[in-house]
Amino acid sequence: MIPDIRAHLGLRPIINVSGTMTALGASIVVPEAVAAVTAMLTQFVEINDLHRRASATIARLCASEAGFVTASCAAGMTLAVAGAMTGADLAAIERLPDTEGLARDAVAIQAGHMVGYGAPVEQAIRLAGARVLRVGQATDVRAYQLEAALGPRCAAVMHVVSHHTVQYGQLALEDVAEIAHARGVPVIVDAASEYDLRGFLARGADVAIYSAHKFLGGPTAGIVAGRKDLVRAAFLQNIGIGRGMKVGKESVAGTIAALDAWERRDHAAVRAGETAALRLWQARLSAHAGIRAVIAPDPTDNPLDRLEVHADPAGARITAWDLADALAAGDPPVIVRDHEIEQGWFQLDPCNLHPGEAETVAARFDAELERARGTNAAAPTGLAERRRRRFASLLRWPD
Ligand SMILES: *Cc1c(COP(=O)(O)O)cnc(C)c1O
Repeated sequence: MIPDIRAHLGLRPIINVSGTMTALGASIVVPEAVAAVTAMLTQFVEINDLHRRASATIARLCASEAGFVTASCAAGMTLAVAGAMTGADLAAIERLPDTEGLARDAVAIQAGHMVGYGAPVEQAIRLAGARVLRVGQATDVRAYQLEAALGPRCAAVMHVVSHHTVQYGQLALEDVAEIAHARGVPVIVDAASEYDLRGFLARGADVAIYSAHKFLGGPTAGIVAGRKDLVRAAFLQNIGIGRGMKVGKESVAGTIAALDAWERRDHAAVRAGETAALRLWQARLSAHAGIRAVIAPDPTDNPLDRLEVHADPAGARITAWDLADALAAGDPPVIVRDHEIEQGWFQLDPCNLHPGEAETVAARFDAELERARGTNAAAPTGLAERRRRRFASLLRWPD
């Protein structure tokens, strides 16, 4: 075992208080999944039997008819869309993304759900060859607009549950399901980051898709749960467009183990540990001039709170984004959740901490805020400049 593989590879030992972010390595994989991945890597298996075994575990945890594991939630979205168009027609599956001859080749989605999770939601739909039917406007979607989209070519509705989506003015899942089902159209829910493994199917979804590598602490994979015919049709894409989204035997075994561990996890104890970290940070940060720290609930009702840290440059002598960048540049680097930084605040997410890291984060804040007060308010970085730097670095890769 390599003690810290990051040092071995010359990578910075970051502390993640941002959340389960792909860009940071998603989550801490639970020991049960680590053991299952390791045990499976050196064995041969009949892969479709392994997938059958995974289906049984997913069905138990999600109270669904069936389930299958693919490369990621994004892959699951593409394959579920593909399956909704092709059903079990193997020739059609091999023809995708060419949808020639398919009766249904379009997917409806509310405008406020057309967001990005690191890639555009609608691209996951288009990858299957489907046309995207945008319903309503970003902040205002009405039932008659959805009804109008659900014509004879509509294969499915994609419904996204996420903090990324517009949180008002959208049709609720129950209403979407009622309208879609009246026209025989299934509803696929992107629930990548949602802890609730049963609620979306119970409220009318036909398929619900999760990331194994987020809250579950599994290996990188996507979980597709729901109606057996739709899950089977998505699974069958493995002989078509799903090949490029292949999940290995180790990830299927690891996902089964992560789901089993989730069922046995002491969720109250995990929550108590997160709350302790939030309280520690709130007390330490609030002692600094110009800093206001409030505990905020998760916007989609996951049982998870975060600390919202507001920086008033007049008192703190640093902007929220320069503070975030200073924390990320320091030793050890601390990466905060900065999706809404232009509003003058960021969040600290406590769900991915190793023992001792909460205290290290508090100490890094003390050091950076004391340093900011000691300097004579350096000119803040412009936000446009900060964004430009981020993309410039991406475009320089691998240099
Ligand atoms: C993370 C996320 C995805 C993508 O999940 P992957 O498993 O990383 O592909 C899709 N939708 C939402 C809402 C997400 O948060």
